[in-house]
Amino acid sequence: MVDRCPRCGLDFNREPGWVLGAMTINTAFMFIVAIPTMLGGFIVTYPDVASGWIALTTVAAAGAAALIGYPFSKTVWIAIDLMMVPDALDADRAGAPQGSEGAGPMRSSSRST
Ligand SMILES: [Zn+2]
Repeated sequence: MVDRCPRCGLDFNREPGWVLGAMTINTAFMFIVAIPTMLGGFIVTYPDVASGWIALTTVAAAGAAALIGYPFSKTVWIAIDLMMVPDALDADRAGAPQGSEGAGPMRSSSRST
């Protein structure tokens, strides 16, 4: 994933710990997929519940949801972040590398982590 939006220069690594919000959204999405999968498995196989298959299917669905949803969770979280801090986009544009004069301290390529 790129560090900055190629169109507007928004820094996707907002601050240390920023990604926790995206992980929270992704975890919620994972549960939204996993819980109906598990309940559906119980309902479909009710009298003789196939708990082993339900567990495997739930883990597979949760894993797939987490992998598929991760980029979208970052997009949703950055949208929420921009709603909470609307000035961040202008500040990022000012600090974005623009040709030869963009060698300031805000450049994400100079970060070590
Ligand atoms: Zn953008």
